[in-house]
Amino acid sequence: VEHGRCHWRADERLASPGQRTGTLASALAALTLVLCSASAGAQGVVIDGGMHHLGTAGAPEWDEFASDPPEGRGLALRFQGSARSAGSTLLIRQRDVKLDWPVRLNGRTIGRLFLMEVDLVQSLAVPADTMKDGENLLEIGPPSGVDDVVVGEVVLDSRPPGQAIGGATLDVRVIDDATGRGLPSRITVVDPRGVLVALTAEAEPEPAVRPGVVYTALGRARVGVRPGRYTVHATRGFEYSLASQEVTVGAGQRRPVVLTLRREVPTPGLVACDTHIHTLTRSGHGDATVDERLVTLAGEGIELPIATEHNLLADNTAPAQRLGLLSALTPVVGDEVTTRRGHFCAFPFDPTGSVPDARLTYWPDLMKAIRAGSSGRVIILNHPRDDHDGFRPFGPSHFNAAVGEDRDGGAPGFDAVEVINSGALQSDPMLVVRDWFALWNHGHEVTAVGASDSHDVSRFIVGQGRTYIACGDADPARIDVTEACRSLRAGRALVSLGLLARLTVNDRFGPGDLATGVGERLRVAVTVLGPSWVRADRVELFANGVKVREQDIAGLSGVVEKARVVWTLPRPPHDVALVAVASGPGVTAPFWAIPRPYQPSTRTWVPRVLGITNPVRVDADGSGVWNSPRYYAQFAIEISGTEPGRLFRFLGAYDEAVATQAAAFCLPAGQDHWPPEVAKALESAPAAVRKGFAACLAGAHSP
Ligand SMILES: [Zn+2]
Ligand SMILES: [Zn+2]
Repeated sequence: VEHGRCHWRADERLASPGQRTGTLASALAALTLVLCSASAGAQGVVIDGGMHHLGTAGAPEWDEFASDPPEGRGLALRFQGSARSAGSTLLIRQRDVKLDWPVRLNGRTIGRLFLMEVDLVQSLAVPADTMKDGENLLEIGPPSGVDDVVVGEVVLDSRPPGQAIGGATLDVRVIDDATGRGLPSRITVVDPRGVLVALTAEAEPEPAVRPGVVYTALGRARVGVRPGRYTVHATRGFEYSLASQEVTVGAGQRRPVVLTLRREVPTPGLVACDTHIHTLTRSGHGDATVDERLVTLAGEGIELPIATEHNLLADNTAPAQRLGLLSALTPVVGDEVTTRRGHFCAFPFDPTGSVPDARLTYWPDLMKAIRAGSSGRVIILNHPRDDHDGFRPFGPSHFNAAVGEDRDGGAPGFDAVEVINSGALQSDPMLVVRDWFALWNHGHEVTAVGASDSHDVSRFIVGQGRTYIACGDADPARIDVTEACRSLRAGRALVSLGLLARLTVNDRFGPGDLATGVGERLRVAVTVLGPSWVRADRVELFANGVKVREQDIAGLSGVVEKARVVWTLPRPPHDVALVAVASGPGVTAPFWAIPRPYQPSTRTWVPRVLGITNPVRVDADGSGVWNSPRYYAQFAIEISGTEPGRLFRFLGAYDEAVATQAAAFCLPAGQDHWPPEVAKALESAPAAVRKGFAACLAGAHSP
């Protein structure tokens, strides 16, 4: 009997608990339950066939819930049962779960909903002595905070989880098209509605298993499911194709599923790096053990994983060797220096060395402590817009986002900044990118990186946000870490969340380069790459953070090269940092769904995929070095003085970014408006100057 056939689809109105008795619907429901029980034997009683929106009335978490009042903060379901049903299994469909939702049976906590937003079926073992003869009470939630969820389709199977879930078997193999051998990969199993299903899995070495998800080190797993119809997907992260197969399997049956993956996205000379990864074992939150982390890293195709636990040096070499994964990646010992004044990923470390002092709070001292013993160490400022311990590094009280200035004083001192953290996405995906542009405009040439910050197997996908570093990549087992760190610090790196943007200037210069001898025109070429299962629809070009070109692109799926755009720019009168940003609709498919922000600033969420380059520094003025907008602003004021009319005429030769920096020099400390003579002169100033001065004022206002 197919699992799905037993479902009685309750009318939402009638599905609310407590409203059942005495209605025709409840009689029908009871009849359906009887029929199900009769036909399914012991295979499952539908306790509740409907889906229920739960949450806090008046406080919708997301727009989609705003027009749909929750039924309550939790759900209570009464059902008839038997004390003999000890050792049975409870199946609950759930979506949008962010907080801890306990599940109680007759007052006893038997587990919790699975922490994940994707639509899935959670399975819980019912311990002996929890069921009663007659009426039983199942309660789900409430959580401690505001969390809108949708739960329901609750089924009680009288058998223990191994039998209740593993009654049918899928023998899944994921094969590398190039070699014919098994490939470390992710297997995603969904029902015909796209819901991640309850499953069990066995493999050698041990797989990482979560609802609907199996990561395997060798591309082979025996997956147990309930009898039914499924779609099985195989993926291996950004660089690989998607392979999918539909399969129907009956009780006691075994079905082979063979899926072949191709390496699609060409990344020669680029190493796939996740600079920010955790485990439950060492960081104490999330759900991935060390072994699960390594299997997931290999399964998502990360070649250079940096272990960055909280104030801990972790070496993944031994577990990677034990799991047979040392041929797929080069583990690096790092540390997430977790302070009360920001989190910083740093690497490499000698695993026997000492951990930087995370009690330091003054950034210059902290940077010195982190660098101690290694001049080649990379320091990355993590998730700069997120709140930890009440501190937001790029929050308005610490950072002037218009000018790129640290309000706490001093140079930032780090080498790089996470512009994409896929475990902590921003409601506005360009917010931190603009912060980073502002840092450059202020003269801080720090590298943009992408990372996942994943502590989990499936809730946040490791390597979803990642950085491609220019570095020898012939053998992922033997990546030259010193070379990779040097490249990363020099900005020879590309940020990826589902896309890769490549940028050249005059066909010669790429990210990290100083483009010299450029002539009267700049030929700027951008190529957008991504796996066939991702779409791109826009390319933008920024000069000193100011958008100077943009183009909509076809948004085709099924192609790897999404676009090749060539722009010809007149040589600007001053140096610029050119950055390309490619973007497209966010992936929502269950094998790579982009998560919602966990610290959202709005109820609206529009996921996007992104590919962001590091800057090509264009030496347009031929000085032989790259000069920042702040440098030109200083120069303009030195030459022309601060008399507004004269200064604005002089600044007219420069862009908005230079004007913003000049404005910062002109704005008296503590002021958030212009003196009358400046305001007057601005009225007739060139447009870029007016914009730049307005931006500076907005930045001054924001605290
Ligand atoms: Zn952190
Ligand atoms: Zn972290």
